[in-house]
Amino acid sequence: MSELTTPPAGPTLAPPSFDLSADQQETLASADEYARRELYPLAARMDKEEWWPAEAFANLGTQGYLGITVPERYGGAGADLFTSALVLQAFARWNHALGLAWVAHDNLCVNNIYRNANEELRRRYLPGLCSGELVGALGLTEPGAGSDALGSMRTTARRQGDHYLLNGSKLYITNGPVADVLLVYAKTAPERGPQGISAFIIEKEFEGFRVAQKLTKMGFRGSQTAELVFTDCRVPTANLVGSENGGVAVVMSGLDLERAMIAPLCLGIAERALELALEYSQSREQFGRKIAEFQMIQAKLAEMYVAVETTRTFTYRVLAAANDLEIGGGGRGHIHALTAASVMYASEAMNRVLSEAVQVHGGTGYIWESEVNRLFRATKLLEIGAGTTEVRKLIISGELLGRVL
Ligand SMILES: Cc1cc2nc3c(=O)[nH]c(=O)nc-3n(C[C@H](O)[C@H](O)[C@H](O)COP(=O)(O)OP(=O)(O)OC[C@H]3O[C@@H](n4cnc5c(N)ncnc54)[C@H](O)[C@@H]3O)c2cc1C
Repeated sequence: MSELTTPPAGPTLAPPSFDLSADQQETLASADEYARRELYPLAARMDKEEWWPAEAFANLGTQGYLGITVPERYGGAGADLFTSALVLQAFARWNHALGLAWVAHDNLCVNNIYRNANEELRRRYLPGLCSGELVGALGLTEPGAGSDALGSMRTTARRQGDHYLLNGSKLYITNGPVADVLLVYAKTAPERGPQGISAFIIEKEFEGFRVAQKLTKMGFRGSQTAELVFTDCRVPTANLVGSENGGVAVVMSGLDLERAMIAPLCLGIAERALELALEYSQSREQFGRKIAEFQMIQAKLAEMYVAVETTRTFTYRVLAAANDLEIGGGGRGHIHALTAASVMYASEAMNRVLSEAVQVHGGTGYIWESEVNRLFRATKLLEIGAGTTEVRKLIISGELLGRVL
């Protein structure tokens, strides 16, 4: 089965959303056009070989698609979170693995640095991250610290003169193997638990830092994932982001924005899966008829459509709510529950859409090289990353019941 290098002009799935302004519609349309032309042709090789398209990623900077939420004085686009979500939605339709790499760079790393770092660090790192010269990543998860990332964190940072010495490891770090700049969390006062965590900017050349292994994934292949190890890694004290032991606010606020931003990744994937199912159902014939003429296929298409439309509505609503989150805000209250609900809903809806899209494709959908199969293998990750579905439920119920997670 051969992979299309240029996608067919499929049916327009959705009319312009009533709640998007003309500018937002234009952002979505132009990012879609760019991704379809420039990023889609890379997707098959990324999936096949876990290949990293370094040049294409750097070009995103040239095109103004990096540092979307960063002010222009640091080299960014000076736009808001909602705008960056529309870019991600479009990228996810045509190359969701690159979309994941993009969100790790632009939201987890760059937006967090912009929101939390001092002026000197912003000026040192943001221009390169916005131009595409530097790739960013965020390291929170560890081998023994996943859902309990803060409580179980083992990586430590011990101050020694004008440096900190970092020791420990980070696991499943998106962009880890290719990142030049990493925002990393470590315990500066382990005895204080989550209140003893600090955030640091690490450069890949820092002594004592290494990529221990590149991990092979079932989906989102081509987005690079790594285990990172720090052995007496020397980090200048100037690279502390925020205050010492103030990392928990950086993490929690960042995680709310990350959750709001994972929903458009789900949305873009689900939109493309529905589009493929629509196309296939109108071309494949069995029993002398297009399969789209069978009511059971029509029911699947209708259910997929409802899942996509409800995801779109909820995703945009929550993004609008998170758009003006003040620095240090979030990590508690209504927005904490809402962003957890958004990503929980979007990832589960996407999984249903992907499953039905493969079913509509029959055997074709089970073949690795088919586009719908590549999309199908995106299932599960977005129920795991940025806090699992179970953790999202704990957050939502905790807010409803007035408990602190
Ligand atoms: C491809 C990929 C990319 C990633 N990218 C990044 C990245 O860029 N940066 C980063 O820092 N991290 C990243 N992660 C890590 C991700 O955020 C974690 O995998 C996630 O938080 C879950 O942690 P864990 O895998 O250790 O699972 P665990 O925490 O061990 O959970 C295992 C199971 O137990 C359940 N569980 C745990 N605690 C509870 C509880 N209290 N109640 C009920 N159930 C519970 C979980 O929901 C899950 O079902 C990535 C992961 C993957 C797979």
